Amino acid sequence: MLTLTPKLVTRYHVGIATKDWSRDLGIHVSSAITSHPEYQTSSGAGTVTSRYNEDRFMGPLSLIKNDFDVTVNVDRRFSIRKDQSEVTVRYAPDSNTFETLRETVETVETKRRDKRCHRIVTQFVKKIESGCQRHALNDFRCPWCDATIDVSFHSSGKVFVVSCSKRHFRRHAQTDSPPDWWRDATTGGWLESNPTERTDEPEPG
Ligand SMILES: [Zn+2]
Repeated sequence: MLTLTPKLVTRYHVGIATKDWSRDLGIHVSSAITSHPEYQTSSGAGTVTSRYNEDRFMGPLSLIKNDFDVTVNVDRRFSIRKDQSEVTVRYAPDSNTFETLRETVETVETKRRDKRCHRIVTQFVKKIESGCQRHALNDFRCPWCDATIDVSFHSSGKVFVVSCSKRHFRRHAQTDSPPDWWRDATTGGWLESNPTERTDEPEPG
């Protein structure tokens, strides 16, 4: 059983979120959770929020006023620990249905796996920082998907980014002593104004 507590603030949203609506949303989210084998159960407790609360989002043709973020602590079997699920849905008032727009799966096991994968990326970055030869990196593969890892140096030679060629992660790093092959790796769309900008954190796959 999945219990959802709406934490909505606008009159429009509060008006939508009846008991029946919350129950139907719970059924939708519960089946979204069930579709991920990472979870042990599809029961738990969660909240419903909207990130579009200003008047300018409330126009008659606005679709995003019907977007809701559902955050659930998902039960595990024989354990007091919880897994996390974040599901963003779009509600269609005409048909009284929900469509899933985005999902994040985070369980005890995926967190452990991601930690292990981040450590492997850190080793890769440290190798480059230590000035290793390019071929010394050949054995490394994306720890999430086994694809090759791209290395791209900024034209300053001080900053580089390593990323999965299938986009599972992207990490920036800085070095004062780049490896001697760094000029051969100066590709990629760097923002010249701010080469150290962290665009995004690794995206677990
Ligand atoms: Zn990958």
